[in-house]
Amino acid sequence: MATTPPKTALLLRNPRARNGKAAIEPVLDMLRQAGLDLLEPERSASDSASDLISRYADQCDLVITGGGDGTLNNAASGLCYTGLPLGVLPLGTANDFARTMGIPLDPMEAAKLIVKGRTKHVDLGEVNGHLFFNVASIGFSAELAGELTEHAKKRWGTLGYGIVAARLLIRSRLFSAFVDHDGVTEKIRALQVSVGNGRHYGGGMTVEETATADDGYLDFYSLEVDHWWRLLRLLPSLRNGTQGRWDDVRAFRTTEVTIRTTRPRPINTDGELATYTPAHFRIRPKSVVVYAP
Ligand SMILES: [Mg+2]
Repeated sequence: MATTPPKTALLLRNPRARNGKAAIEPVLDMLRQAGLDLLEPERSASDSASDLISRYADQCDLVITGGGDGTLNNAASGLCYTGLPLGVLPLGTANDFARTMGIPLDPMEAAKLIVKGRTKHVDLGEVNGHLFFNVASIGFSAELAGELTEHAKKRWGTLGYGIVAARLLIRSRLFSAFVDHDGVTEKIRALQVSVGNGRHYGGGMTVEETATADDGYLDFYSLEVDHWWRLLRLLPSLRNGTQGRWDDVRAFRTTEVTIRTTRPRPINTDGELATYTPAHFRIRPKSVVVYAP
């Protein structure tokens, strides 16, 4: 199923991805045989993925990322402003956006989707001008995600989550915040606040079980727990996205929300430190075109 006329894809690989080099050569060969020219420019340390997308926009028809959610986050503004369609080769450790979109985690299967050519318009979240695909978090969850490596999960199982979470909770502190949304202001005391665009984040956590990256909404939730054992009780729900059913979790769906705290607090977007509170979040509907099932 060759694409005619031949198309050029800008290939952006995360040079630090463990399996970014040799393992995907057969995948790239398949794409070339299907009629894609792959353009992979030399990249200096200061070039972001978005810089390259803007620079090569008039020489390519699509962008292919080989990496994880960090690579996508890095490419978000370039994709948004050029409108070039995005093919995702999941090569990260988490690949939360691929899972949100139902893109196969096997890079060869994911590449076949690009060849097939079916696309979807996908929303992005924005906080203080920074775009994100999956989630933006304040407080504890970004740390939790970082510590819950695959290795720890395999070694310790559910109990491991409990131990890691309780340890982090002891290090963390509840913080007060004002949340302005949909014409109301709510005062909260929370361990963590998350605002999701898609469904999955943090390598196996779920913002909300029915959330999608193309529903035109952000999903907010805040963990307003004051004892570590309450958090332990919540952990399975945080995995499958049903935490909003507990009475110490506030959850709502919106298009715009502002979070104010007394001291500036760091905000992670897709696992990277992006900005600080006060934070204005909004949905950017249908901002990126993605090859998806
Ligand atoms: Mg959404």
